[in-house]
Formats: sequence, structure tokens, C-alpha cells
Amino acid sequence: MVYDPRPQRYDSLPYRRAGRSGLLLPAISLGLWHNFGGVDRFESARAMVRTAFDGGITHFDLANNYGPPPGSAELTFGRLLREDLAPFRDELIISSKAGYTMWPGPYGDWGSRKYLIASCDASLKRMGLDYVDVFYHHRPDPNTPLEETMMALDQIVRSGRALYAAVSNYPAALLHRAAGLLRDLGTPFVLNQPSYSMFNRWLEPDGLLDALRDEGVGAIVFSPLAQGLLSTKYLNGIPADSRAASATGFLKAEQVTPERVAQVQALNEIAAARGQTLAQLALAWVLRHPEVTSALIGASRPEQITDAIGALGAGPISDDELARIEAILSP
Ligand code: NDP
Repeated sequence: MVYDPRPQRYDSLPYRRAGRSGLLLPAISLGLWHNFGGVDRFESARAMVRTAFDGGITHFDLANNYGPPPGSAELTFGRLLREDLAPFRDELIISSKAGYTMWPGPYGDWGSRKYLIASCDASLKRMGLDYVDVFYHHRPDPNTPLEETMMALDQIVRSGRALYAAVSNYPAALLHRAAGLLRDLGTPFVLNQPSYSMFNRWLEPDGLLDALRDEGVGAIVFSPLAQGLLSTKYLNGIPADSRAASATGFLKAEQVTPERVAQVQALNEIAAARGQTLAQLALAWVLRHPEVTSALIGASRPEQITDAIGALGAGPISDDELARIEAILSP
């Protein structure tokens, strides 16, 4: 059936500025790391992407290696673009990345100019796109000069393969250097993509949010639900249809410890008192920082996306609620 998006789709979510750039992102973005690969049901991927776009999610995040097998999430998204979203290309922000292992040999990994440009071309081909909106260097490369990697991003933007440059998993010190290089090159540098959630707070002592504010770059934070731990699904064991039970999932059953489950139980009581789900509270918690442009979720079914879109509906987290959350997270 021809896809006819919901006319009121822009009434559900706020759009937040990526740093001091001209780019606005939805407060909730959808990533295609899990559940959109060649091993997954295409109709399930289609239902999730339609639910997202209908709810105002304009940003879809990919990478060369998402699948499994690697590359297949981009193929899935390419088919969705062709069959559903092609008329709405100018309403979409599509990103891809290179930086993790993609093909054998010395040119399919890390941060060389050789790898980034070839990988960007392959991503465009898989998705059937002329350009992506944002292209990322996926992780720092300790062995390639940062100048070379940033010049490759600059080349990718200048040649029209991407509109904006971005990095992922860069700590504060490296972020400052990258921002300086890209500024000198005149390349629009809009985002850093770090992990961040109630259960993963490395960027706080690192000073990354201060660095991003100083440089005028936004944060789009990945795994804000700690891959699903920050929901009620693991309160009574590990459901068969959860990521922790999946053979291809990155969340391992060993991470669902009794201590985590006790924290989840206590956090869920705070969420319930606010009249929201725990997943919604976890998203509102990362979005309380103005430097966080967007919370980048994953999903295995459309209802999770609808739940996330409602995350800011219960209003800001009060100082008292924040203190109670803090007491649970760092007893
Ligand atoms: P999340 O922390 O949002 O975890 C997503 C998982 O949580 C879902 O697959 C689902 O798991 C569960 N879930 C989601 N919503 C709900 C809900 N409302 N209620 C209950 N459970 C829910 O993010 P991801 O770890 O999936 O990462 C998100 C995106 O971030 C990726 O798709 C990717 O784009 C990006 N990313 C980037 C990385 C990088 O290095 N730059 C690394 C990792 C991710 P279940 O299957 O159990 O239902």
C-alpha cells in the first residue's frame, strides 16, 4: 500500500538545534543498528520507520556495518526510501558512518582517507542516495593523524557526498582538536555521537558536554535506554524476544544483574509517580542537558517508538526527582 504519512506528524516532538549550527533534529531519533538487518523481517522494519516518521522523527541513523550482515541495514533503509520515503527526502536527515571493521584488509577499518571515502561511496550506493545529510567518523583512530581523518570528512562534504561532518565516540580533548581542524578547513561540524544513559555516564567526568558547548557542536546520545535495560522488560527475567536473549544482540544476559534490576525497580517507581514509563523517564533524563540535541533510540517494535515520542510529555524532571534518581544511581 502506498505510504501516506500522518499530516499532523510535526505536532508531536520538539526540534532542537545541533550546537550553533543551522541543523534542527527531533528530540528523539531512530537508529538502525539492531532489528533492521538482513536477518530481520522487512515488514517489521517498515512498520517501525513509518511509525517514527508519522510521529515526527525525521532523523534516521545508520552506519556502514549495521546489520547483520554488515551493510544490510543500509540496504533495508534504501528499500524503504525507494518504496515509502522517496517523496519525503527533503524532510529527512539520514546519517551514516565509517570507523569500525567493514571489509578485510588494511583499508576497511579505522580512520584513513582511503577507508572513509570508499566506505561513504559504498553506503550511498546501498541506500540509493546521492548524499547523506550527516557523515560520521565512527570512533577515534589512535594510529591515523587526526588531520588526515578530518580532511577526509572535509572532502566528503565538499564533494557533495554529505551535507555535514560529525564524529562519534570522541572524548572532550579529541573533540576540541577535531573542531579546530574542521573550523580551519571551513567544514560544517554539527554533532558528536557518544553513548550516554543513567547507567553509562562516562561523558560527565570527561567534560564532553562543556567541550561541545564551547565548540558549538551538538550531542546525539546513543543507547539512552542502555539497550533496553532502562525499561521494565527485565524486571522478571529475560524475555525470549528481548535483545539480551538474541543471538545477534550486543546486550548480554550477564549484564542483567540483580543490582541493575533493583535499580530499575526503584527508578520505575519515580517514573510511575510522574505518570510515565521508565523508558520515557530515561529519555527525559538525557534530554535535560541543553547540549544534548537528540536521544538516539533503537527499537524492536513500533510501540517502543510511540512510547519514546511521548518522553517529554510529563514535563521537566524536578530537582527533587533528580536527587532521588542520583541516590539510586550512586548510592
Ligand atoms: P537504546 O538504548 O534505545 O536500546 C534500544 C532497545 O531498547 C530496543 O531494541 C528495545 O530492545 C529496547 N527498547 C526501546 N524502546 C523501548 C521502550 N519504550 N520500552 C521498552 N524497551 C524499549 O539504543 P540502542 O542501543 O539500540 O542504540 C540506538 C542507536 O544508537 C543505534 O541504532 C545506532 O544508531 C546508535 N549507536 C551508535 C553507536 C556508535 O558507536 N556511534 C553504538 C551503538 C548504537 P528489545 O529488542 O529488547 O525490545
